[in-house]
Amino acid sequence: MKNIQNILPHVEKPARYIGAEANIIEKDHQKTPCRIALAFPDMYEIGTSHMGIQVLYNIINQHPKALAERVFAPAPDMAGYLKDQGIPLSALETHTPLVQFDIIGFSLLYELNYTNILSILDLSNIPFYSSERDNSFPLIIAGGPCMCNPEPVSDFFDAIVIGDGEQVIIQLIETWLDCHNQDRQKILSEWAKLEGVYIPQFFDCLQSKAQNDNQKPGDRSQKYVRRAIASNLDNVPFPDHPVVAVGKPVHDRYSLEIARGCTRGCRFCQAGMIYRPVRERSVHNLLQLASTALASTGYDEISLLSLSSGDYSHINTLMSQMMAYCHQERIAVSLPSLRAGTLTPELMALIKKVRKTGFTIAPEAGSNRLRKVINKNITEEQIIKTVSSAFEMGWQLIKLYFMIGLPSETPDDIEAMIDLVKRLRFLIRQYSKKAHLNVSVSTFIPKPHTPFQWCKQISLDESQKTITYLKEQFNVKGIRFKWQDPRVSFMEGIWSRGDRQLSAVLVKAYQLGCLFDGWSDRFQFDLWQKAFERVGISQDQYLDRRSFDSALPWDHIDVRIKRSFLLDEWQKAINEAQTGDCRTETCNLCGCCDFEKIKPVTNEKIQTNEFPKIKPIHKNTFQKILFTYTKRLNARFLGHLELVTIIIRAFRRAGFRFEYSQGFHPMPKVSFGDPLPSGMASEAEYFLASIVDDQDPSRKIGAYSLDKVNAQLPEGLNLAACEDAHSKKALSEKKPSQIAYQITLPNEVDHQRITDFLTSKTFIVSRQNQKGNLLKIDLREKVIKMHLSGPGQLYCLIDNQKMIRPSLVLESVLGIDKSVIPCAEILKLCS
Ligand code: SF4
Ligand code: SF4
Repeated sequence: MKNIQNILPHVEKPARYIGAEANIIEKDHQKTPCRIALAFPDMYEIGTSHMGIQVLYNIINQHPKALAERVFAPAPDMAGYLKDQGIPLSALETHTPLVQFDIIGFSLLYELNYTNILSILDLSNIPFYSSERDNSFPLIIAGGPCMCNPEPVSDFFDAIVIGDGEQVIIQLIETWLDCHNQDRQKILSEWAKLEGVYIPQFFDCLQSKAQNDNQKPGDRSQKYVRRAIASNLDNVPFPDHPVVAVGKPVHDRYSLEIARGCTRGCRFCQAGMIYRPVRERSVHNLLQLASTALASTGYDEISLLSLSSGDYSHINTLMSQMMAYCHQERIAVSLPSLRAGTLTPELMALIKKVRKTGFTIAPEAGSNRLRKVINKNITEEQIIKTVSSAFEMGWQLIKLYFMIGLPSETPDDIEAMIDLVKRLRFLIRQYSKKAHLNVSVSTFIPKPHTPFQWCKQISLDESQKTITYLKEQFNVKGIRFKWQDPRVSFMEGIWSRGDRQLSAVLVKAYQLGCLFDGWSDRFQFDLWQKAFERVGISQDQYLDRRSFDSALPWDHIDVRIKRSFLLDEWQKAINEAQTGDCRTETCNLCGCCDFEKIKPVTNEKIQTNEFPKIKPIHKNTFQKILFTYTKRLNARFLGHLELVTIIIRAFRRAGFRFEYSQGFHPMPKVSFGDPLPSGMASEAEYFLASIVDDQDPSRKIGAYSLDKVNAQLPEGLNLAACEDAHSKKALSEKKPSQIAYQITLPNEVDHQRITDFLTSKTFIVSRQNQKGNLLKIDLREKVIKMHLSGPGQLYCLIDNQKMIRPSLVLESVLGIDKSVIPCAEILKLCS
């Protein structure tokens, strides 16, 4: 950590790198033999929102001989500083460099994150290719949905987990503990015996396997790796004390996986194939997880995750039980993946009870015909009914999601999409003139292990033309049209069905500067073109139709779906024939279940007495309290909004309840004083809160509450005092007329400049206000006192009326260069 201390003041969002999160686990490296870094190849805000990494973190840290820490891809500014200063990338918890771990495990969810794998290895001084790494390097492994076709990145990994990682990770650790003193080849050969573990270097026949005529499709005489399946989710641990990310993670809430697998069988959907069969967690387990996790995190939103949440067998019972708890705690419950048809008025009424979180309907295709081809068995009538019920109940916005370029698509299907959207627009504007639809369109990408895996992907040109046409059509009031950049879909298509030859392209693209390719503002299509050209590989071969007679690069990965099933489904697609839902109809014999160990797990019967008891609501008497807090050490890098969220959640975790405002979006009644700039420390800041101790509502809030909350706050952030505040004025009364600062200067200053300043009558500087207007300020009038208080230390007393920042004094009076001002440690003193 010492190493990055000097970098933090210069980077955007330093909170990404300080590890100031609640529920973080720090184990002793000296006493724990197996040390694993869980790496996520995207930024902190994305990675911390991913449930899978929390699941593995929880499981590994429960193992007495293993520890897990996390690392996310540093943003380009941070990566640049690390490189320039030769500081190796380290994990968040103990700031141990990655190269010192025994295993680094990557979670791979999106193909356009692949260059970030190389960035993380590069910043850790670890060679990219597994063949270049000896025993002195950690074993590099990967898992996640992208790994159902691991070939494009398999050269970089020592081992790859196919399928559910919960049990496999424990087996990998146990095996590693048994043989870690031996050569890494020995460890790999032991790992190769585990179900769901693929060791790429033991499969040497796969280079461009799709073009290998000697290889028969689906040839099981070849070695293959079978997907690992957690057969009953109630038996695998799920985090009930998840790490609470700081800043603005994309999903700033508790994500609870209610079920895995989907039985709908949409033919384009890889997730619907590779997560089979459906496995639901029990209502009892979910309620217990939710109540423990919400108390341990302080979140005010819970998201019930699954591929199709509305299909959960007892969704209404689960929701009404969840609501009973969440409603009184002002916690919103969201169901992000609902399917039109399952989104019943009863369900909407339940969602609406606390807060109207938005939802998405994914018709995918515009015409009933094309929906039959893709087996998306929802009719236009169902879509219209769902949308009108939602707007009848007061929703103002619905997101619609479509794909273009689906197999057999004709211009008529595109017209049908436009017609459907326009009809929905007409419908919703009957309810409210403010109502609108967010319409998202992306290009269909044929994915491995689906009935469409052999299909051609439409060309970049076709894709661009259709998007341009849709843009024109949807340029009307009430519709917001968004589309995925066709060049991104083009690239994603190549990597989805790619082979081992692509590893050289990835290295070349990284060397040319490709990074964070999943971020539209950072995606550099021209550099990717250059990378393919330089390596001499044609891109079109990956997007073309694949012959049924040739082997596919992922044929050796057995996700437990039979090839014959996929072929039958393809035939049915051509015939526009539907396949039923194996949850409610008969088994479609996809090959996944053995009906002994692996079978669908649904909540057939539930007993109402199995629900955990819900805490009664106290008739609270809220107390208005003025709190004083200090912000020092790394907590000074927290932005104001980050800090507010951290403090509110810390109170909740400590068992306090806030009074809420009334209205559509109730907010806790907390007011903070003027925000401190990120990087500035303070001995005394204030906020006013209306709270009650939920465990003992009659108890007077006093010094005891400070200890309880401080135990929940990150290092450097501390409640120092509290006092009764009978009016709102208590906060404004604390606003000082003058503020004293103690500043550790970033470089030596000329004492004469201070003398000149103090002896001058005026000292006019120009400053831009928030509106961009130039203001002239007489600094001499505003700076009341200034002197060097010790070696490299400046004391400064400034008038607080015009919010003059000390950085302005450093730059204008002392002539300190703007670029080094962030290195000055500024402490706002207690007035
Ligand atoms: S409903 Fe269809 S698209 Fe959605 S997860 Fe299930 S199979 Fe996939
Ligand atoms: S084997 Fe049958 S029940 Fe199991 S997932 Fe496949 S279709 Fe569904």
